[in-house]
Amino acid sequence: MRDPHTSRDAAQRALRLRLETIAVHAGGEIDPATGALAPPLYLSTTFEHGPAGEAIHQFLYTREKNPTQLRLEAALRDLEGGAAGLAFSSGMAAAAALFQTLAPGSHVVFSDDIYIDVRNLVRDFLPAWGVETASKDLRDLEVLKAALRPNTKFIWIETPSNPLLKILDIRAIADLAHEAGAQLVVDNTFASPVLQRPLEHAADVVLHSTTKYCGGHSDVQGGCVVVKSRELHDKLFHVRDILGAVASPFNSWLILPGLRSLPCRMERHSANAAAVAAALVASPAVEAVYYPGLPSHPGHKIARRQMKNFGGMLSFLVRGGREDALRVASRVKLFVNATSLGGTESLIEHRASNEGKGSNAPPNLLRLSIGLEHPEDLIEDLLQALG
Ligand SMILES: *Cc1c(COP(=O)(O)O)cnc(C)c1O
Repeated sequence: MRDPHTSRDAAQRALRLRLETIAVHAGGEIDPATGALAPPLYLSTTFEHGPAGEAIHQFLYTREKNPTQLRLEAALRDLEGGAAGLAFSSGMAAAAALFQTLAPGSHVVFSDDIYIDVRNLVRDFLPAWGVETASKDLRDLEVLKAALRPNTKFIWIETPSNPLLKILDIRAIADLAHEAGAQLVVDNTFASPVLQRPLEHAADVVLHSTTKYCGGHSDVQGGCVVVKSRELHDKLFHVRDILGAVASPFNSWLILPGLRSLPCRMERHSANAAAVAAALVASPAVEAVYYPGLPSHPGHKIARRQMKNFGGMLSFLVRGGREDALRVASRVKLFVNATSLGGTESLIEHRASNEGKGSNAPPNLLRLSIGLEHPEDLIEDLLQALG
């Protein structure tokens, strides 16, 4: 079998295609065996090899690599513009693998508003792995400079962040990381690769929970890492192979078609979220709206510089307290009370309840994942719920 990384894929990469076109074609080589356009799903766990174990078809065992997974990795690599992509069984598996590449005694600086389970990973596992950590508000670059140490290996940021939609300056942070001999890791889940390409802004590593916008239909769990450096790729490949957090062929196959429509979906998610944000700003029952597309957002200028659009995620504070926010969440008819994000359907979530103990979310904060419905239906639902 021909390598789906080669031939037609390589020829297309040489064309310097635009992102919308890359999304449709990357990793999409026509099946050489049958001419099938839709990607074949190879469930085989094992592949024929030579008598001395020679990989005559390039594949040996699916935990190491699998043809369906390679297509997904090629697509994610090209969407992010990196040297290589690696697919994992979940976003958390991807995050854990990155930390597993660090030697004990390493130090990592995190931005302060990050996904709750990455915070839990930092709290519950990194100390035992001998990795030292610091969590800081990296909107202030002086704070970052003061947090850097000779053993800092990664700076780990989320922008826009979860759930406060803070915006961090990727290029400025990357420059400081490199001066300190560290690499910048960007969790790009909220933006998706079509709205923000951190590697173009000098970041070294991009992580996604592909469960969210990349899959896009709330029906598959996955994660990925895209890197610039072959050395880091090889370390991650080894971690994934030996520790086993590999993406299954079936999940890889489910995520791929999500990528094809990602640019179209992100446009609609963003337009809908902008309309909802404007309606919430105008409501007297709302105390604050966190959406980087609002000119009043403190990170708006930076977001304009590093993002193509502002995405489908927003949070807002209900005037009053926890009970008032819960009342709004209980009254919605179209929005679904559920966690996660990036699907076609709109979701609402009282984030402090979901995160539980240790949550940084204000008690009157509701987080919205804006779907692909008509924006007026979403706005009417929220306004009736706000009373
Ligand atoms: C969901 C999420 C993760 C974790 O991904 P899983 O696929 O749930 O393991 C990491 N970062 C962000 C920003 C997320 O939203």
